[in-house]
Amino acid sequence: MPKIKLLIQGYATEINGVESASSATTLIQDGNANVIVDPGMNRKLLLDNLVKEGLKTEDINYVILTHTHLDHSLLVGIFNNAKVFDNSDVYSFDGKISSHNGKIPNTDIEIIKTPGHDQFHCSVLVNTEEFGKVIIAGDVLWWRDGEKQERDILKLVDREDPYVKDEKALKESRKKVLEVADYIIPGHGPMFKVKK
Ligand SMILES: [Zn+2]
Repeated sequence: MPKIKLLIQGYATEINGVESASSATTLIQDGNANVIVDPGMNRKLLLDNLVKEGLKTEDINYVILTHTHLDHSLLVGIFNNAKVFDNSDVYSFDGKISSHNGKIPNTDIEIIKTPGHDQFHCSVLVNTEEFGKVIIAGDVLWWRDGEKQERDILKLVDREDPYVKDEKALKESRKKVLEVADYIIPGHGPMFKVKK
């Protein structure tokens, strides 16, 4: 079964009037595959935390981007052996692009489409022994640092997103992830257990 490790908890804050943010960065290890979801934009923290796991950037086989906003995707190019997955396609650093079927090869990792925050947004579903079904939800749900994290499902579905592109689609995507997941890793803010 895949193992999951939150390498960096996503954050979004303001320091001396300057916006400072980076997405949650998650490492999934399944069989021989090392997978990063959303490398984010904090290079030093990412490299330091990979070293702690005994990994180099070359050891990463796949990178999944929940969406291409740069606070989630800026560092994608540092994994030069990785194939990069978005909601529908796979990209290689030799310039090849092909489509995928929602599965990461030879793993139990699944990509599900969750539009709304961004039209091409996706989330990642991982079935783990430790946490049950975990969904790495990108900005389907996210919080600024210090903001109260609602736990009530309806409040989570209705939560305001100042950057939403399609509100109706976002609500549907939230319902979908909240229904399936035992735990959710949001784009920014702590991982939480879904109240059933
Ligand atoms: Zn974000």
